Amino acid sequence: MPDAIVTRFAPSPTGFLHIGGARTALFNWLYARRHGGKMLLRIEDTDRERSTEAAIGAILDGLTWLGLDWDGDAIYQFARADRHRAVAEAMLAGGRAYKCYATPEELDAMREQAKAEGRPMRYDGRWRDRTDAERAAAEARGLRPVIRLRAPLAGETIVEDLVQGRVSWSNDNLDDLVLLRSDGTPTYMLAVVVDDHDMGVTHVIRGDDHLTNAARQTQIYEAMGWKVPAMAHIPMILGPDGAKLSKRHGALGIEAYRAMGYLPVALRNYLVRLGWSHGDQEIFSTEEMIAAFDLRNVGRSPARFDFAKLENLNGHYMRQAADADLLAAIAPVLPHVEGGERIAGMLDDSMRAKWLQAMPGLKERAKTLVELIDGARFLFAERPLVPDAKAAEILDKGGRAVLKALLPRLEALADWDLATLEATIRAEAEATGQKLGALAQPLRAALTGRATSPGIFDVFVVLGRAESLARLRDQAR
Ligand code: GLU
Repeated sequence: MPDAIVTRFAPSPTGFLHIGGARTALFNWLYARRHGGKMLLRIEDTDRERSTEAAIGAILDGLTWLGLDWDGDAIYQFARADRHRAVAEAMLAGGRAYKCYATPEELDAMREQAKAEGRPMRYDGRWRDRTDAERAAAEARGLRPVIRLRAPLAGETIVEDLVQGRVSWSNDNLDDLVLLRSDGTPTYMLAVVVDDHDMGVTHVIRGDDHLTNAARQTQIYEAMGWKVPAMAHIPMILGPDGAKLSKRHGALGIEAYRAMGYLPVALRNYLVRLGWSHGDQEIFSTEEMIAAFDLRNVGRSPARFDFAKLENLNGHYMRQAADADLLAAIAPVLPHVEGGERIAGMLDDSMRAKWLQAMPGLKERAKTLVELIDGARFLFAERPLVPDAKAAEILDKGGRAVLKALLPRLEALADWDLATLEATIRAEAEATGQKLGALAQPLRAALTGRATSPGIFDVFVVLGRAESLARLRDQAR
């Protein structure tokens, strides 16, 4: 029986969880879930200067919000430094690695020479085959060694990548990489291999900016006689114009997408299609994604980020969402919108009930939760409303007269329900030879202060009799 699939997401907590990282996490998660395996989480916090608690928190929160759960506890790479060191020592003892005492000046000279010859810097292996006496002499001069991998000199290093295909490097282009620094700290290259091995990772799925690292890491696996995991290097995400993804394009932390009012289900659906396809299907429930996900259908060309597409997907999922779920989803968005704190403060049971009542009409028109909040602002508006420019124009150009004519009829109504209100206003439209819209527009302007809103009869009902009539009187003056 083949091994159970184990994937891992291995972010460096030097920044927040950005959109590319979220996609990498999603692909790892889907692959594991698809095959009944596990996705592990490893926080690569070995860069002590740049790793922060805040970034770790943002990564864990972002994954949780996106619904990408990991198996077991998160593993912290820095805590495993002793194990990394032990592996480097074992390689040294087995002759697969050696101590190198090259000084910074010597390395600088190698760098300069490479530059002059127009080639990348390669360590020249000058300490590969030294004697014990030479090493002892270097120690006696106070030099502290790094431990370098004794990499193969001839032949090729090959990565059979599940996305990129077979990629090969001529070994004379890969120098003897450092495993352990002179202060005894393990390098990133060593730590990743040891951790992936110890965690039983079967599939490494990550951005293709790590492809060259894959060759280096393969050499370490081979030196240790460990099985190299399957690798899948997925293309980067570019901006819509094909340039490197910038902030303006969407290179933001996941928490920014949350604040912009996107739903996790929509973001997951959007991210899965960034680089992966399944025929021409665009909409995937989470179950469908899991059932269909396959590394074979990850493309080799970079995906382009497209906000409009994300918005459309989000609108789709908002229309499908249960009203109560949408109401629950707006709470974390409120602090990020103008006047959101006031709205949050007013959101008691009665306001919640009103919002829920208006929700079917509101969610039809909103592509994000921020737009949903905007659409619901009329509920929270204080009298007298200050109409926006479009609503003011409607009121100024004949709207006020319409309100004046309608008010007595509405005031006379004994019932304030949808059917009664609709019949009354339709009858007025017919009696005066006007279209329904000619009456609805001024009513909307007066009741909501906007030129667009949910259906006008819904607005009446949601606001209730007293508030509706008061708002109409305010604007009819
Ligand atoms: N920590 C690396 C990064 O955030 C990923 C390493 C890996 O996936 O092997 O880019």
